[in-house]
Amino acid sequence: MERIIQVKKNHEKKFQEGYPLLFPEAVKSTRPLQKEGDLFRLTTQKGEFVARGYYGKQNKGIGWILSQKEEEAIDFAFFLRKLSAALARRQKFYFSEETNAFRVFNGEGDGIGGLTIDHYNGYYLFQWYSKGIYAFHDEILRAFSQITVSKGIYQKRRFQSGGQVIKEDSYVSGERCDHAFSVLESGLSLNAHLNDGAMTGFFFDQRQVRKQLMNRYAAGRRVLNTFSYTGAFSVFAAKGGAQSTVSVDLAKRSLEATKENFRLNEIPLEQNEIVVEDIFHYLARAKEENLRFDLIILDPPSYSRSKDFTFSAQKDYTALVEQALPVLSKNGIILASTNCSLFDMKEFQEMVKKAFRKFNRRYQVLESFQLPVDFPIHGSFPEGNYLKVFYIQHTS
Ligand code: SAH
Repeated sequence: MERIIQVKKNHEKKFQEGYPLLFPEAVKSTRPLQKEGDLFRLTTQKGEFVARGYYGKQNKGIGWILSQKEEEAIDFAFFLRKLSAALARRQKFYFSEETNAFRVFNGEGDGIGGLTIDHYNGYYLFQWYSKGIYAFHDEILRAFSQITVSKGIYQKRRFQSGGQVIKEDSYVSGERCDHAFSVLESGLSLNAHLNDGAMTGFFFDQRQVRKQLMNRYAAGRRVLNTFSYTGAFSVFAAKGGAQSTVSVDLAKRSLEATKENFRLNEIPLEQNEIVVEDIFHYLARAKEENLRFDLIILDPPSYSRSKDFTFSAQKDYTALVEQALPVLSKNGIILASTNCSLFDMKEFQEMVKKAFRKFNRRYQVLESFQLPVDFPIHGSFPEGNYLKVFYIQHTS
């Protein structure tokens, strides 16, 4: 049964123009929405059809619009159409000999907000971002298996309070693979783990950035990789001919995971140091010791809290760059990256440039990156275009 909800007059245009995220302030009353997964028809005050969607609470809103066509039903055939179109768009990736890890479904960018699907060399990882979208999991998985062959399927249900991942066995169907296994990206190997908490080993959206690091920026440079996690950037830098790399992460498990990624690519550890330490302590120490790096990678989480520091990308990115600049060599490069969706590329570049100016350092932006093609974005939803990365060089 379809629930009927009315959009407020001042928000009508926004939804008529295709805005996909339903938020509480936009509707007269949310009372008709009773259970997550309820389908709704969004109408004007006069009762005219605007769009159809589902009720599902996420940090971002209370549901997603699925269709603006009055005659289009949300049923098995609908899911089949969306999934088929998404898979068709990724054909190129299925034929790639150098990359077998890529996104096949990117939420609202592929027509269904709240769901992403990633491909890991024959295995698929489904991520459900609300109870609402999870209510359709049977139908969606059935539609998916009708059009794809997979070795196995895993899932993460990201709707514990605060958008956290529910701690549980992630296995869904097919062959089990409960250990780390290596996948290919741009010809290099990286470990992935589909049944080990919230993260899987590396983030696909940085693929082009890593490739460019290897092909254009790393050669001959002393590289510092901060918030290094499993060392994916370090591996690409080393393969690109970096003179040395230092990977710094607070999490103890990053040590083994990073070693393993180096080993997979037959990179000796001598010139590749792995440090388990709070990055803010590390940078202070590196400054004291007069260390210098020619390329510093800054890719922090949007928000993090360690024993001694809290970091919020929105408030503290400039300060992070300020702490990195004293150890950046003359003509050194900073690879600045963020996945924080609270500001755009222009604002982000300003945050970084501000630190350069404070130190009276001249700079030049060399190149910037946003989401790759397997992460399509919804034309009316710029918030979904979260990734912002650029290379900036200290020029003398
Ligand atoms: N840059 C990584 C992804 C970073 S994920 C990549 O490209 O794969 C975020 C990482 O930041 C986590 O591994 C976490 O342990 C680390 N982290 C969070 N706060 C930190 C801090 N204060 N110092 C060092 N590492 C930190």
